[in-house]
Amino acid sequence: MHSFHYQNASLHCEDVDLATLADAHGTPAYVYSANTIRDHYRRLDQALGDIDHGIEYAVKANSNLSVLKLLVEEGSGFDIVSGGELRRVIEAGGDAGKCTFAGVGKTREEIEYALREQIYCFNAESEEEVAFINTVAGEMGVKAPVAFRVNPNVDAKTHKYISTGKSENKFGVDFEVIEDAYARAAALPNITLRGLQMHIGSQLTSLQPFIEAVEKVAPLANKLKESYGIEFFSIGGGVGIVYDPALESGKPEWWSGQEEEHKPLTIEQYAAGVVPVLKKTGLKILVEPGRYIVGNAGVMLTRCLYEKKGSAKTFRIVDAGMNDLIRPALYEGHHDIVPLKEPGAETGVTAVDVVGPVCETGDFFCQNRELPNFAPGEAIALLSAGAYGFVMASNYNSRGLPVEILVDGSEAKVIRPRQTMDDILASEKAAL
Ligand SMILES: *Cc1c(COP(=O)(O)O)cnc(C)c1O
Repeated sequence: MHSFHYQNASLHCEDVDLATLADAHGTPAYVYSANTIRDHYRRLDQALGDIDHGIEYAVKANSNLSVLKLLVEEGSGFDIVSGGELRRVIEAGGDAGKCTFAGVGKTREEIEYALREQIYCFNAESEEEVAFINTVAGEMGVKAPVAFRVNPNVDAKTHKYISTGKSENKFGVDFEVIEDAYARAAALPNITLRGLQMHIGSQLTSLQPFIEAVEKVAPLANKLKESYGIEFFSIGGGVGIVYDPALESGKPEWWSGQEEEHKPLTIEQYAAGVVPVLKKTGLKILVEPGRYIVGNAGVMLTRCLYEKKGSAKTFRIVDAGMNDLIRPALYEGHHDIVPLKEPGAETGVTAVDVVGPVCETGDFFCQNRELPNFAPGEAIALLSAGAYGFVMASNYNSRGLPVEILVDGSEAKVIRPRQTMDDILASEKAAL
């Protein structure tokens, strides 16, 4: 559920008219709903209610400082994948002691920084990495808290680029050798074994892969608790969101109207499914949601520049490109597209390709999709753009990064101004 809806025939985020924001701040623009983010966090927290648990928001999904600050205020911990993300958490007022550090390629500088800041745990992805963390910690005269990421070899049934829990993926340590890895790590002088972690993939829309993974790994967590006194078991993130239909799924009525077998996974079902298995471990349970918290809490606004009628197709060319939102090009991601002005009964529908200005054939937001007509000059919204949207934006084609705006009730605040050409050029000009 989320707080984007039509009101007085105009698309709103909470109480703010998005057309007003597009006029005032220009396009492309990312707009996030603070109350949607809070609501998602609280619903997950409540759903996990009766077990000892912690939420480690996956910073990589949306790392704007103001978004992180919102989650700091909710009491969230953070799952980070770089020293840069740790810096962001600290700048946002977050507690390094509630951070877990994931990723297959941690550098010496990042490990030293994380040890200095006393993070909660390194989630290590190989024995080689643990050996290196041991060396660095030894040089600093400290003990490093470590968990291994286990690769449970289950099929998450999601897009191949966001599936991470199969043996052929680069992530984690194979289930078959994980106990030996713990035994060897336990012998290292500067390592404290603190937990066990897994993360099988992203945008999972059914419960079954989660259950399969948790049932397979929970007994291992138990064993490791007995042998090494580990204190937590992190089950990762990956809970999917509704990309289609995104707008309708904002309302509770949509969810109650879905037939049981077609109903997308809710956070309550997710918790109800995994909690009974996890309870038996007696460990502190961590979850690392990214997309679930912020995905449907953001949209990207863009304006139509031209309509181009080719012999085979109609193109609507907009002022946002794949450099601003790469999900469709990178992993065939779907974003619903709606005009800011609510389509009426008289609005026609045309099958169109919505494309950006970037010089790549992959620079499209949809192909042959039936959309309500909108004309050059009109602004539209790409929904469900709060996760893996702005964070993946680049300066390709020398295009500045879009503005980011956070809406809270009737307030709208620019939380990152649009990047100017002067910003982009400064360091290069200095080198001329
Ligand atoms: C990306 C990532 C997450 C978050 O995934 P979502 O699908 O956005 O919930 C959690 N844990 C790890 C280790 C990750 O790499």
